Amino acid sequence: MIARTIVDVPAAQTDRLFDYLIPAHLEQIIQPGMRIIVPFGPRQIQGFVIEVTATSDVPKLKSVQEVLDPVPVLTSELLQLGRWLAHTTICFQISAFQVMLPAALKTSVMKELHLLVAHRELEMPLQPLFQQNKKVLWKDAVDHLGSQLGLVRKALDAGQLVVHYVVKEKAKKKMEKWVKVNKEADLTSIKSSAHKQLEIIHFIEQKAEPIRSQEVLTATQSTRAVLKSLIEKKLVLEWDQETYRDPLQGVRYKPSPPLPFTDEQQQAFIPLKKAIVDKRSETFLLHGVTGSGKTEIYLQAIDEVMKQGKEAIMLVPEISLTPQIVSRFKSRFGEEVAVMHSGLSVGEKYDEWRRIHRSEVKVVVGARSAVFAPFSNLGLIIMDEEHETSYKQEDMPRYHTKEVAIKRSVHHQCPVILGSATPSLETFARAQKGVYTLLSLKHRVNNRPMPTVDIVDMREELRAGNRSMFSVSLMEALKRRLELGEQSVLFLNRRGYSTFVMCRDCGYVPQCEHCDISLTYHRSNHSLKCHYCGHEETMPVECPECTSEHIRFFGSGTQKVEEELTRVLPEARVIRMDVDTTRTKGSHQRLLDAFGNGDADILLGTQMIAKGLDFPNITLVGVLAADTMLHIPDFRSAERTFQVLEQVSGRAGRHQRPGEVLLQSYTPEHYSIELVKSHDYDTFYQMEMRQRKAAEYPPYRYMALVTISDPDLPNVIQKAQKISDYLKSTLGSETVILGPVVSPIARIKDRYRYQCMIKYKNEPRLTEALQQILQHYLRDTTQGKLQISLDMHPYFF
Ligand code: ADP
Ligand code: ZN
Ligand code: ZN
Repeated sequence: MIARTIVDVPAAQTDRLFDYLIPAHLEQIIQPGMRIIVPFGPRQIQGFVIEVTATSDVPKLKSVQEVLDPVPVLTSELLQLGRWLAHTTICFQISAFQVMLPAALKTSVMKELHLLVAHRELEMPLQPLFQQNKKVLWKDAVDHLGSQLGLVRKALDAGQLVVHYVVKEKAKKKMEKWVKVNKEADLTSIKSSAHKQLEIIHFIEQKAEPIRSQEVLTATQSTRAVLKSLIEKKLVLEWDQETYRDPLQGVRYKPSPPLPFTDEQQQAFIPLKKAIVDKRSETFLLHGVTGSGKTEIYLQAIDEVMKQGKEAIMLVPEISLTPQIVSRFKSRFGEEVAVMHSGLSVGEKYDEWRRIHRSEVKVVVGARSAVFAPFSNLGLIIMDEEHETSYKQEDMPRYHTKEVAIKRSVHHQCPVILGSATPSLETFARAQKGVYTLLSLKHRVNNRPMPTVDIVDMREELRAGNRSMFSVSLMEALKRRLELGEQSVLFLNRRGYSTFVMCRDCGYVPQCEHCDISLTYHRSNHSLKCHYCGHEETMPVECPECTSEHIRFFGSGTQKVEEELTRVLPEARVIRMDVDTTRTKGSHQRLLDAFGNGDADILLGTQMIAKGLDFPNITLVGVLAADTMLHIPDFRSAERTFQVLEQVSGRAGRHQRPGEVLLQSYTPEHYSIELVKSHDYDTFYQMEMRQRKAAEYPPYRYMALVTISDPDLPNVIQKAQKISDYLKSTLGSETVILGPVVSPIARIKDRYRYQCMIKYKNEPRLTEALQQILQHYLRDTTQGKLQISLDMHPYFF
C-alpha cells in the first residue's frame, strides 16, 4: 500500500503529493487525514496522508517511518475543505491543513523531538519502558530503552503499538495520577504507628470513585513518600489517566432555561427552525438592532439542533468573546460546550479540540478558527457580529470565516445564521438580492427604547473656548451619572489615530484627488500620501478651506484621557481597558467583573469595550471622537464608523433604565455619524451603496491585493512593476489594476513593500494569472528574499 502525502517543507512550496510505502505493520492503521513521519532528503518530516492507494508511478519508494495519530485528525470533509481553501485563497495545501488544527499539532516534529506516550492495547504493560513525564530526545530514548527496544519494535511490527510524538511539552496530553484502594488489601501490614498511612487509606476508601493522587495528598496533608510506600505495599493502586485542562474549571454556571420568545423573535425563529429540521443548507442574515434578542434566538436554534442529535458552531469575534457571552452558553448547555479562543494556552486549546474531535461536546463557542471544529454531524453554524473584520485571517491562508462557514454548511446540509445589527455591505447586498434570507428584528426586547443619541459639534466647543477633549455636555452628563449612582462607558476609537490630518477649526481632512480617500501623514518627509494610487503632496501649513493654522495630525491615547478625566472629575472611579491593562491572563475578566460589581463609575476603553457588554447599570455612553475612523485611508471607513458607533451605543440602556449616547464629532453632518441618531441602518446602506457604486468598490466589484516585498528596494519596485504589467496584459479590460504603489506600511522588518490592487467583476482568469505569478517567481520566493502575498478579500486597516 502507498500513502500519498502532502509534506511539511515550507521551502519546497509545493502541492505535489509524495508517495511512500506503507510498511506491513502500519497497513491496518494508516488512513487519509492522519499525520505521518516520512524521510525527505536527509531529514525526517511531518506529512498529511491524502490518499491510500495500491500502486505508484514512482519506481523506488521510501517507507513511512511512523504514524502520529491513532485516528485521522482531518476528516474527509476537512481534507476536501483544505484543498478548496488552498485553491480559493491561493496558498499551499499544507498551510490550509495546518490552519484547521490546534497549534499543538502543527509544529514541525523534528524540532525538540520528545518521546512520549505509547498507545493502543499495549499502553499499560509498556508504560514502564518510558520514564514518566520525562522529556527525552528520540536518540536518548533509544539509549534509555536499550535492550528493551526490541520489545517495542515487535509491538510496532505487530501493529499493536503506535509511538506518539508530541512536540511541545505544553501541547502534551496531560496525564494525572489517580488512586484507589486495592480491594484485596491486607491492612494488617500497616504498623499501628503509621497514622498517616491509615489516614490516607481511610480517606481513599470513603470515595466510591478513584480520586486524583494530588487531592489525597492535599486533603490528608501527607507527603508523596507516604503514599508511595502504600503503593509499594500494593495496598493502594495508582495509575496514570489522561485528563483535560479545562480553562473554565471551577467556574459555576447558573442554569438558564429558554425565555419565551417575543413576537418578533418568534417570527424570525420559524424559518430558522424549518431549515434546521429540513436539513437545508441556507444562509440567513439575522439583522437585529442591539438588544433585540439575537443571542436568545441563537441559543434556541442550537437547542433545536441538539434535539436532532447534531452539533453546532457558534462563532463570535475574538474581541467580544467575553466571559459574559461564554457564560450564556455554558448556563444553557453546560458540559456540552467547548470554548476556543486565543486566550487559552496551547494545551487548553488542544484539549478543547480533542473534546470536539471525540464528539464529547455538541457545541463550540469560539473565535475565527472554531469554524474548522472537527464535528462530523454539523446541524448549524452561527456567526455573530458577522461584519467584524477579525473574521478575516490576515496570515496565510487568508480566508474569510463566512466563506468557510457557508462551504461547510453545503457539505453538512445545514443552515448558517449571520447575525448583526450593522451587517457588512457585502452581506446586506446579498440579502437584498435574495442570495441570503433576510430576517429582521427592529425592536429591542420588551419594547425597551433604543438609546437616544446626541451629537456634539466639537468645532463649536472650540469656538466657545473649550480646548479640552470633553465637551460641556459630556461633562455634565458624566456628573449626572455620578450623582444618580449610574455607570458610564467612555469609548475612544484608537484605530486611525495619528495617521490622518485634520483642521481643528473647520474639520477639513485632506483627501486624495483621485481616490476619495484620506491622505496619510508621513512623518519622515512631512508629506501626505494616498495609499491607493500613490499620489503625494506636501503637508499644508494652513487649512486650504479656512486658512486656520490649527491643521495637524490627530492623536490621543486612553492613558491621556484617563489623566484628563481624573483631573476634571476627581471623584469618579475609573477603570481603563485597553491593550496595556489587559495584557495578563484573566485581567479582561477581572476588570469587567469589577465594573459589573459597581467598583467603578466609568469604564474607559478602546474597541474591546464596544461589544458584547450587557450591564444593567450603564445609562450613558460617550464617544470622544466619533470621526477618527472615518478618515483612515480605507474605502470602508464610513461603514466601519457607523458600525462601531452603533455597537458602542448599544451598550447603553439595555435593561430597565433608558440609555443616552453622546457622540463628539468634528464632522457631525457626515451620514455615518448623523444616521446613528436614528439608528437607521437602511438609509445608511442606501447612501453608502451609492458611494460604492460611483467608485466601483465592493460589493459592486471584488477586490484582490498583491503585496510584493523584498529587502532590496529597486528589486521590489521592478518586480512589482512587472507583476502589474503582466496582470494588465493578461486580464480583461473590465478588470482594473491599480498600482504598484507603496504599501500602507512601507517597510516591515527591513523589507520594502509594494502593492497592486485588482478590482474585478467576473474575471475567470484571475486565479490562474495569480498562480502563474507565484510559479514564475518560485525560485526567488523559495530562496526567501522576494515575497509575494495574495489576498482575495483584503481589509486595509
Ligand atoms: P442581542 O444579542 O440582539 O444584542 P440579547 O439576546 O443579548 O440581544 O438580548 C438583550 C437582552 O434581552 C438580554 O438581557 C436578554 O437576556 C434579554 N432577552 C432576550 N430575549 C428575551 C425574551 N424573549 N424575553 C425576555 N428577555 C429577553
Ligand atoms: Zn480649516
Ligand atoms: Zn489616490
